[in-house]
Amino acid sequence: MTQSIAREPNIDRSKSRELTSELYLKSEQLLRFRIAFSLVSLCLCVGIYSFAGVEFEFYRATGIICSVSIYSFIGLAFVVKALRSSRAKLQSFNAILLVLDALALTGLVHFTHGIESDLYVLYLLPIMLSSYTFGRRGIYLVAAFVALCYIGLLVYESSPLLPYLLQSTNPRGLASAFAFKLWRRIFARAFFFTSVAFLWARFCDYLSRVSRRSNERLLEQLEANEKLIAESEERAKRERLINSINKGVRSTLELDSILRSAVNQLSQAVSADLVAILCPPTTGESTNIYVQASEPSTAALDKESVSGVANQPVGSISARLQSFILSRRSSYLKDDAGRKIKTFVFTDAPADQFFADVKEEIESSGFRSIVLQPMMYGEISRGVIILADRRKDKVFEESELVLTKVVAGQVAVAIEHANLVGELSSKNRDLVGKNLNLDAKNLELKTMQSQLIHHEKMASLGRLVAGIAHELNNPINFVHGNLPYLKQYADELKKLVDKASEIEEEHRRDFDELKRKIKYDFLISDLDNIIADLNEGSERIRHIIRNLRSFSRLDEAELKEASICEGIESTLKILSQYYGNDKIPVHFSPGFASMPQVLCYPGQLNQVWMNLLSNAAQAMQGQAEARLNIQAELEGESVLVQISDNGPGIKQEVQSKIFDPFFTTKPVGQGTGLGLSICHSIIERHGGQIWFSSELGKGTTFFVRIPLTAKRQSPNLPGELSQISEPD
Ligand code: ADP
Repeated sequence: MTQSIAREPNIDRSKSRELTSELYLKSEQLLRFRIAFSLVSLCLCVGIYSFAGVEFEFYRATGIICSVSIYSFIGLAFVVKALRSSRAKLQSFNAILLVLDALALTGLVHFTHGIESDLYVLYLLPIMLSSYTFGRRGIYLVAAFVALCYIGLLVYESSPLLPYLLQSTNPRGLASAFAFKLWRRIFARAFFFTSVAFLWARFCDYLSRVSRRSNERLLEQLEANEKLIAESEERAKRERLINSINKGVRSTLELDSILRSAVNQLSQAVSADLVAILCPPTTGESTNIYVQASEPSTAALDKESVSGVANQPVGSISARLQSFILSRRSSYLKDDAGRKIKTFVFTDAPADQFFADVKEEIESSGFRSIVLQPMMYGEISRGVIILADRRKDKVFEESELVLTKVVAGQVAVAIEHANLVGELSSKNRDLVGKNLNLDAKNLELKTMQSQLIHHEKMASLGRLVAGIAHELNNPINFVHGNLPYLKQYADELKKLVDKASEIEEEHRRDFDELKRKIKYDFLISDLDNIIADLNEGSERIRHIIRNLRSFSRLDEAELKEASICEGIESTLKILSQYYGNDKIPVHFSPGFASMPQVLCYPGQLNQVWMNLLSNAAQAMQGQAEARLNIQAELEGESVLVQISDNGPGIKQEVQSKIFDPFFTTKPVGQGTGLGLSICHSIIERHGGQIWFSSELGKGTTFFVRIPLTAKRQSPNLPGELSQISEPD
């Protein structure tokens, strides 16, 4: 209601402004017409006077025409502009001009043969012109005035005869006949002219009404078109805005940017003191309300954008007002009558019952007109858009409300997407993390499994070796233990045979015959050789068994003092297929044999030597001048062992990987890639270090530093293999 009362004077004002400007344009055009007309008339006058020599009061007529031009010029140059804003003044101005025109015409007719002049037809012009700027009444008034002027002229022209005419009492005679004729003439002309003037006025009125009506129709059409254009412009603007909001919210999935862009765009499109978006906290993040607001600064036009994620005032929205609006957002779905409501519009917010709980806040903010537009995603409210204005008579237009509703829908979808994407990416991050963990665990398990298999294999091999050594040990001990007796018995038998050769001649022949037959001398000499060979053989077997036992060290799973040199030597013997005088020669450093014993797990250290020595042997395999150098030296409280080969060396690009489990450059079936990684873990377990230096084409040296007293460790670790050798 307030809205319609407030709007009507506005409409009137704008309409009268339109009419005034229309009248102004018409007045201006008429003045131009007057100037043009009088100039043409002037030319005609001069032409007729100079060529036709017609007798009329040329100078006076010309003066009148000139004066018409002059006052028209003055009117055009100054007066009309000054009267531009007042319709009443413009009308009076036009009326004065028409009176002047009528008087000028009367003068012109008077000076061009007076009553006999045909120029009286020009009187029709002011009538016609009046239809252009006046209404119906004006036209007839001008017609009456023009008729009066003409009648006045008639009377004035006949004025010299009037005393005579009025005094003529004699109804007969020539004078009376002339007077009668004159009267008739005056009356007839007056009547004729008045009728023509009013007829012409009627015609002009009709024409002007027709043209006004068609004008009105045109105007109506124009208005309808303008309305259509305005509507489509409005729609286009709205679509542009929606598009740009869409683009804005699609270009990012960050909640802050989405809200900032939506608020900025909306604040450009609606006329409001405050545009804000309130969002409830996203699940599980915080209890803060998210606010994005755009409010005119003191400079009025310059909109500023503020945001906050805490329960603090943002712009003119106090923290309490924020929570109140958000707490009521679920009730936005339905009104008191249970109908679904999409938009809440409050024209006088401080007086509205809805804001009764936050009356103070509303009053202190100064907002009178408030729109609350919930941002619904299905049945879930994602927040509220607030439009607020402090002006008393501010009513938000329908188009603004529609636009706000559309934006609310877009923003709700965008928030939902942002939330979903956020959840997805956090789940993705979790999954990637878990995957990485699984990968690491998988690798660890694989390594452990391989080490266990390797361990088991090596343990079986160790047990086999130890078993064989044990089984061989007893029989060889019998053999070796009985050999001295065998020698002793053979010597005694030899002595017996020698004694027997002292018997008589006749018995000795048979005895000698038997000795010859059995090749006694050869047998005796060979028996010694056999016994010596047996001795040597059994000694060798015992040595081998000692080596096997020393290598397997089944009896040494505990930390104990052991000689590194012995360990290396026994390993070299196991690897006798590679190393030896006719194979790869091995050179020991001078102090090698005199190294002190170290407290260690001897079986595990033997495994290290086995891996390093077999790698070196394999690297140098088939090489013409292969050579192995083994060096040991005392370094403070540790022993440093260096095993150098002159093999092909290790390529730069694989040097960083050779201690990795499963890294091998050997063909499938030959290398497991576990040897060096096991060495590394064994040496680490002893509190020592292992490293290498290698030069391509020249060879590789492995350095092993072992402290003289290794730390006591649990013997059951996967890498702790009591008798492991690298399978080849
Ligand atoms: P594997 O012997 O089963 O391949 P290792 O862990 O013992 O596994 O060795 C890893 C790799 O290190 C070998 O494949 C080899 O390329 C390189 N390597 C080790 N020792 C030497 C050496 N003395 N000379 C050249 N390359 C070596």
